Amino acid sequence: MDERILILILLGACALAWAARYARKRQELSGAVRQNPKRAPLVFLWQAVFILLPVAVMAAFGFWAILHQRRVVEQEAQQRATEIIQTLPDDFGRLSASSLTQYDAYKGGWFSFLEWGVAGWPGSKTRLQYLGDTNELSIISNSVTTLRAAFPDWKDGAPPLVQFLFDSNGLPQNMDVFPPSPPPWLLTLSADQYQAWTSLISADRPGQTVSNLLPFVREFRDTHPPTTATAVADFFRLRAEMRDKSSMIAMQSFLDFAREQEGALSESGVPLTSLALAEALRRANECGPNEKLWELLRTETMRAGILAPGLLDQAAGLVRRNAPLSESVRAMQILLADRQAQRQLAQALAQTGYSPKVLTTNLWVSALGRRWFCIVQPDTIRSGTIVSNKSIWMTNTYPEVRCYPKSLVAQAFTNALAETKIALPQYFGVSFELETEPIPLPPPWDGTSSETLAAGRFHMSLPAIMLSNPGNGPRTETPFEDMPGHPEFTLRIQLTDRPLLYARQRQLQTIFGSLIALSALSAFVGFIAAYRSFQRQKELSDLKTNFVSSVSHELRAPIASVRLMAENLESGKIAGAPKQNEYFRFIVQECRRLSSLIENVLDFSRIEQGRKQYAFEQTDLAALTRITVKLMEPYAAEKGVWLKLEPLPESVEASVDGQALQQALVNLIDNAVKHSPKGETVTAGITSQDGTIKLFVADHGPGIPRGEQEKIFERFYRLGSELRRETQGVGIGLSVVKHIVAAHNGRVMVQSDPGHGSRFTIELPPGK
Ligand code: ADP
Repeated sequence: MDERILILILLGACALAWAARYARKRQELSGAVRQNPKRAPLVFLWQAVFILLPVAVMAAFGFWAILHQRRVVEQEAQQRATEIIQTLPDDFGRLSASSLTQYDAYKGGWFSFLEWGVAGWPGSKTRLQYLGDTNELSIISNSVTTLRAAFPDWKDGAPPLVQFLFDSNGLPQNMDVFPPSPPPWLLTLSADQYQAWTSLISADRPGQTVSNLLPFVREFRDTHPPTTATAVADFFRLRAEMRDKSSMIAMQSFLDFAREQEGALSESGVPLTSLALAEALRRANECGPNEKLWELLRTETMRAGILAPGLLDQAAGLVRRNAPLSESVRAMQILLADRQAQRQLAQALAQTGYSPKVLTTNLWVSALGRRWFCIVQPDTIRSGTIVSNKSIWMTNTYPEVRCYPKSLVAQAFTNALAETKIALPQYFGVSFELETEPIPLPPPWDGTSSETLAAGRFHMSLPAIMLSNPGNGPRTETPFEDMPGHPEFTLRIQLTDRPLLYARQRQLQTIFGSLIALSALSAFVGFIAAYRSFQRQKELSDLKTNFVSSVSHELRAPIASVRLMAENLESGKIAGAPKQNEYFRFIVQECRRLSSLIENVLDFSRIEQGRKQYAFEQTDLAALTRITVKLMEPYAAEKGVWLKLEPLPESVEASVDGQALQQALVNLIDNAVKHSPKGETVTAGITSQDGTIKLFVADHGPGIPRGEQEKIFERFYRLGSELRRETQGVGIGLSVVKHIVAAHNGRVMVQSDPGHGSRFTIELPPGK
């Protein structure tokens, strides 16, 4: 709903309110309520509709708007999420990729330093070169610190970041086959050769002398076996020969042999180099290691052969007391761990069905207890190396693999996001999906488990880091944009905290909801009040109508009888003084009654208009009561009622309006006489106690029901239905009494037991 509908609704509500006012005005002008009482409820119903309908419409609209607001908030959040995605820079993919691959450089630099620096023989030129370069040292120490920060779970060994080149077998380049398998030459031996071979290995017993072994070696050589097989036989011979030689000579010989026989495999598939190195290392126990041994040990480490861990342990034991060499072994152990990780990742990649010949570019694998995102980069990547201080660039046709643990991918995305400086509302989270793998980000970005508001796809365009770190050599960058399977990821903006999103709206909702409810309630209360006052006005109107007819009735009867008696007297129809006197007495009586009635009506009118005035003066209330009773006696006698005066105090002085109080007393006595059956007694009296004066009038009439005892003091109120009413009266006597007494700060009370008469008491406070 838009603003136009809102304005229409408001205009409609205003029109209804105006119509209600107009209707009310017309009604007042035509006097609908008074003229046609039966139509009154209907008119009121219309009024109610006109009053309440706009309120109800406004309230309904208010609540609708509040609820609608919720949808608006949702739409805004949605819009904000889309905006965030759209405002991400075009090179966001490149940003994330460079954040991810920057760690390669840190690790590459450090590992070159380990391999060519720390792992080298202490006196070697390269080691001295690396370790002597303070600039390089500080770079490396920074790299290690950065890597430690990137991998909080990395305690020891190599950091979980793996990078290697594939060889044509789908294994990391320059690495021993693992586990070793019998060499091809063993299968190609002829029967004779095999016979000679088995004789040779059974003769190659520990402690065998050269002279005893040599014939077997010769016999095997004479069968002309393949060269590698001959090399194994030569190794047996060398081992036997060296048994009696000095350690220095033996070690040297084994090292020479190892160098010469590079690539040759023993019958178990273990390279002869490794076996020769193991022998050299054993003999080094007595004569100590040398540079040549150390170089071979490092090569062995990098090939990660089956013997490498054991050989490194042995070397560690050998150089326990030599700090630089111990440090060197430690470096080799780290390098070995990395090579082993490379092997495991290569195996994991192979298990996914990936073949290095089919160059897919990226995939997720599980290895070493983690999930790894592996980017396999196809061929034609340039790799740099240094040969005698000159950079030589070669084209490498093997694919390069880089594997990043999931936590690092998350971290790279977080870094890239932080770099874009996007302000995320607190209720938003971000998650990534890289090649179908969801990447949960650390707080405060984390949003994987929540609903997605907007998503965008980006390409990880790597600002290629060089394939192998050329150390101090020139670096090169190869753009990866043209890679066939150039990694793609999805960034999702998610709603993580729905209640927080609605928090402000809920606050407004509470305020406006309360306001609407309050106004609806006050309109309803106003309506009830209006209805009650309407009812009251209606009752009053009825009572007034009755009053007019009662007054007319009350006036007509005495006037008619006075006129009749006066006419009779005038025409001389009434003869005799006693009869005439009786007529005169009647006329006087009726006139007094009429005066009293008119007095009451006038008083009532003055009271109603607020014009009634009282003149207070010191008055003897005992005398006033006595006179009033005397005054009323003929009237009581006429009604056949005994009017009795209770014994009075001598005098009861008070400052009162004597005339008004007498009128009040007359009204009470008139009512008592009116309601008393013939022959009953009406008692009037006065008491005074502690300054409080009580004037009372008691009768033995029908009494007043308890529920009516309050109401009889209201104006126009009369007991019973209009038609069945036996007593005369217009219903204002007691209301006049009440007003007079109130003007004296007193109160008028009634005690009545239906069937047992009533007692009215005027109580005046002390000081009156
Ligand atoms: P009214 O002109 O009808 O007497 P009042 O205001 O004097 O008007 O009295 C109101 C009503 O109180 C009377 O209509 C009558 O029903 C009732 N009432 C007043 N006094 C007595 C009484 N002494 N005994 C019984 N009913 C009484």
